[in-house]
Parts: sequence; structure tokens; C-alpha cells
Amino acid sequence: MAKDRLASVLERWEAVIGLEIHTELTALNTKMFCGCPVAFGGEPNTRVCPVCLGMPGALPVPNRAAIEATVLAGLATNCTIAEWSQFHRKNYFYPDMPKNYQISQYDLPFCADGFLDVEVEHDGAAQRPDRDAGYTTRIGITRIHLEEDTGKMIHVGGSEGRIAGATHSLVDFNRAGTGLMELVTEPDIRTPEEARRFAQKLRLIWLTLGVSDCNMEEGSMRVDANVSVRPRGETELGTKAEIKNMNSFKSLHDALAHEIVRQTEELDNGGRIVQETRHWDAGAKRTSSLRSKEEAHDYRYFPEPDMVPFEFSAEWIESVRATLPELPDEKRRRLIDAYGIPVHDATVLTGDDLDMAEFFEAAVTIGGAERAKAISNVMLNDLSMHLNAAGISVAESKVVPSMVAELVGLVEEGTISSKQAKEVFAEMAETGDAPGAIVELRGMKQVSDTGAIEEVVDRVIAANPAQVEQYRGGKTAVIGFFVGQVMREMGGQANPKVVNEVLARRLGG
Ligand code: ADP
Ligand code: ZN
Ligand code: MG
Repeated sequence: MAKDRLASVLERWEAVIGLEIHTELTALNTKMFCGCPVAFGGEPNTRVCPVCLGMPGALPVPNRAAIEATVLAGLATNCTIAEWSQFHRKNYFYPDMPKNYQISQYDLPFCADGFLDVEVEHDGAAQRPDRDAGYTTRIGITRIHLEEDTGKMIHVGGSEGRIAGATHSLVDFNRAGTGLMELVTEPDIRTPEEARRFAQKLRLIWLTLGVSDCNMEEGSMRVDANVSVRPRGETELGTKAEIKNMNSFKSLHDALAHEIVRQTEELDNGGRIVQETRHWDAGAKRTSSLRSKEEAHDYRYFPEPDMVPFEFSAEWIESVRATLPELPDEKRRRLIDAYGIPVHDATVLTGDDLDMAEFFEAAVTIGGAERAKAISNVMLNDLSMHLNAAGISVAESKVVPSMVAELVGLVEEGTISSKQAKEVFAEMAETGDAPGAIVELRGMKQVSDTGAIEEVVDRVIAANPAQVEQYRGGKTAVIGFFVGQVMREMGGQANPKVVNEVLARRLGG
């Protein structure tokens, strides 16, 4: 679907989006209420015990590190931490849930009333019509609570992830009982791009805190999106659909874009939206109904009788706060203040993963703070393009910080031109060779020797009397023609700054 469809739909309709984000606490050594190890995959049903298998009489013991991680997550997202909190039982019957209830939280979550400020740069045509390109929007966080993850169902013979057509189902409880943090946002999000940026920023915060590996493909971070539409100007909320099964940020964006268009078309055609859960099919690029609200469960929540409630003292909460690392927003601010790079650069460097900012700071340490902007330029242009084209992360690239620092140095010292630097970059990204060695090997050195340049300049001036006339008659723009001629004669290796100086001197005379 073209982005323009979404853009034109958003002119008349406003989308309202709220996210529910589950994050497995994969950084913990053990599960939520037992001592079983936490890891991805493995031989099915090997990381289990009577507690996480829900054997009668087995008692849960809460994992202190999981509660600390959740409180830390709440503090990092401006939440209020509950002084009094407790777990509840959420009752439902499904084969992936061995106890027939899930230990979760209900009206007393550990964290509530937070927010995250999200920077939204561009989304082609599908911007909010009520905002300029490049804005910051505050997304409210309703709550963050802690629960235990379920097991995994494998439906044999069916199409992947769906029960339709399956002959039988297998269940693996290795994941059952893993600490799972659920964050719920207010319905404050207005575009697919805002949703994507929110989820990306949240992931970066979780990674900074070290609570999870946040791997969307492996399901350690799972984003469900609630979305409704309403005519612009309307303040009442429309009926929402909940979309599941997005396993990348791109899927989250695309699923929302499709669902918004689908809902508005439905309404434009005189139909109505039914409250339901919809499944995103990334291959077919569409959502389809999974189950309607009529089948909604009554979970009969009640306080977990096998665990006492929690009372957090203000001192304990402050002691957790003291362990907060530098968060992406703080890092962004510091890069701007310490290195004088533009807001845009700092936003990009701190916006997608932790490695870019680390790379930048390492390169600046080597190359010097005065080259910070030049280093950032190379990273935002050459490095980003190279990473995108190769489909790799900065950690997987052959380009390391010292190479970028050296490359920038070669340009600033006038050894190579910025045009040559592009070639050197391409070669070092390909080979992993140091830029100095590439320049040496390819004899790329830029000619800055004034004598050699003067010789060529004089020759070019003598050969083009008409243009000289024009220049001296006041058409100074014709200097570009001379620069081009000199450059061509010198195989593009002349230092353009010196060429310009010599030309101006000789022509002006
Ligand atoms: P439910 O009762 O279906 O669980 P909640 O009120 O708990 O719904 O909200 C779940 C999520 O859906 C939250 O992220 C919330 O912001 C979002 N949400 C609620 N109502 C709407 C709506 N009308 N349109 C879009 N999102 C909504
Ligand atoms: Zn266990
Ligand atoms: Mg709810």
C-alpha cells in the first residue's frame, strides 16, 4: 500500500493508537517464581520444575531481581512507583498455561503514570497534518506491571502460528514462568511512525537498563497495537481493534498503516468497526480477524494467596533510582552540549541502537573533539548508507571508530579531498583496511603543492581567453568553469581550496 493512501486518509481521519508491550526479562538468570534458568530455545521442556509446571502444592518465590528490574524500568519512564503492591491471579484455561491461572498484576501494578517523549523526524507523506515535520510528542504510560510468561504452543500441520489446519499441538514449557514486564500506554499515539518511534525508544531504554535483549524476532519484546479512527475534530474515542503478531518495527508500522486505512474505508462505506483482535500477516500485508470481543474472557482476578503484598520504602525506591544508567535522552543532550553537534545528529546517533553513540564517542576520543561534527557527518551519511545497503549493524561492520577518525583527519589536513574520502570510505568498508593505507596504495593523495597547481592554472587561463574576459568583466561565477578544467587536467586530485585560491589570484590580477 502506498504511503500516500495513509497520508490522504489522515487528512480527514485521526488515528488513535495505544500500545501494549511485553518484554521478557531475559537478562535475569532465573524465572519469575522458581530457580529454573532463563534462555531462548533449547530442547523442549528441559528448563522446568514443579513450580513453573504448576504442580499441586508447589509454591512461588518472587524473584527480587525481576522486581528491581521492573521498578528500574518504571523510574526510567517517569512512572510513579507503588508503595504498596501485590500480585493477582488471572484465571484462564489454555494449554500453554500449566497452572490454569497466570500470576500477574491487576489494580496494583508496580509502576504507573509515566511518560516518554518521542522525537518523530519524517515519515514521507504520512505526517500528522497538525504538526510540522520533526516534532517531539509526549506519550503517556498508563502502567508497567510484572507477570509470568506462558509456554509456547507448536501447532503441527497448520500454517505457522495459526491453529487452522493443524492436526495436533505440542507445548514447550521452557519459557513458562519467565519474568515478563507489560507496559501499557495511554491512547496518545497518532501515527504509525509515532508508534514505531515509541517502541524503538522504549527498546533502547530497556537495552540501556540491561533488563532484556529485546529481540522482537525471538519474541522477547512483543508489541500489540490497539487502534481506532475518528473524524478529525472528534474527541470521543472510536471502537478499537487490537493487532497482534508484529515481529519487527517495520511490521508494527505497516500493520498500523494498513489497519488505519482498512478502518476508514469500512466507515466511509457505511460499515462499522467491531471490537476484535486482528492478526497481522506480514507476507500478505493485511490484518485479519482472530477473535471478536464477544469471546472475551472473564479472568476473575483475585489476590495471589501464596504471596504476601509488597511494601516499597521511599529509601529503597531511591536506592534503585541511584543505579539508573545514562538514558538515551540524557546521552542525546550530552552529545549536543559536549561536542556541539546539531540536535538532528545527536537524535540519530542515540535513536536506533546503543552502538552508534558508542562508536561516535570512541571516534571523537581518537580524532579530537574539534572533529566531532565531521565524524558525525561521516557516520550519518557514509556509514549509515553502508550499513543500510549491507543490511548489517555497526557492530558487524568492518568500519571501526579509529578508521572514521583517521579518514576525517586526512580530509582536514588536506591530504585527500572530501570527494576522495567517499571512495576511501567505500573501500575501507569493503576491505577493513585503514584509510591511510588505502590512500597510500592507490596513490590518491591530493595535490596541495601550489607550484604544481599554478602551472596547470596558467595553462588553463591561457587556453580560455573568452572566459577570462567574462571573469574580468564581472562574471565571477565563471570561476567554477576554471576549477572544473583544472581538476580535470589534474585527474581530480588537486586540493580544491588551493585551486580556488590560485585561480582567484591569477585571474584577479
Ligand atoms: P481493554 O479493556 O480492551 O484491555 P484498555 O482500556 O485496557 O482496553 O486499553 C488497552 C490499550 O488500548 C491501551 O494501550 C489503551 O491506550 C488503548 N486504547 C483504549 N481505547 C482505545 C481506543 N478507542 N482506540 C485506540 N486505542 C485505545
Ligand atoms: Zn521452574
Ligand atoms: Mg485492559
